[in-house]
Amino acid sequence: MGCNAIYPADAIEAHRAFIARRRSLRPSEEYRTPTNEEWDAFLSHFEKRKLSLGTCARAFGTACIHEHACVRCSLLRAEPSQRGRLLEIRDNLLDRIAEAQREGWHGEVEGLEISLAGAEEKPTRLDAALKPAVIYLGLPTFGQIAGRSNTL
Ligand code: SF4
Repeated sequence: MGCNAIYPADAIEAHRAFIARRRSLRPSEEYRTPTNEEWDAFLSHFEKRKLSLGTCARAFGTACIHEHACVRCSLLRAEPSQRGRLLEIRDNLLDRIAEAQREGWHGEVEGLEISLAGAEEKPTRLDAALKPAVIYLGLPTFGQIAGRSNTL
């Protein structure tokens, strides 16, 4: 990507297509989102990077390339205690987008919408993590039903 400075868009597209082809050849479970337990087990090897809304899960020994825009960043693992704050941020972003549209600040709207997507996604992810896991017990077979009625 670095060598093809004249046609960076082509290089980026070719690189993405290459990654997509490689991934399509691998079992899909290798690319699943880690569970909270797996993240906690991994992060317990290091000092956690505490942020105002949660923990930063970017690779250790690397700098933040997202300019600390944590609300937008997929590497932020929000704390459940910060759910209310995230909703406040979301509501504020909605008000700011409405204001920017009203005032004709079109350049601002796009950036705010990216932040809004992050502020909406994080509480949803928290809610999903707090939901109890559904365990499929299967359907009882006729033999099981008949066996149970015999014992009653
Ligand atoms: S923007 Fe992302 S990578 Fe940077 S500090 Fe925040 S959560 Fe970590």
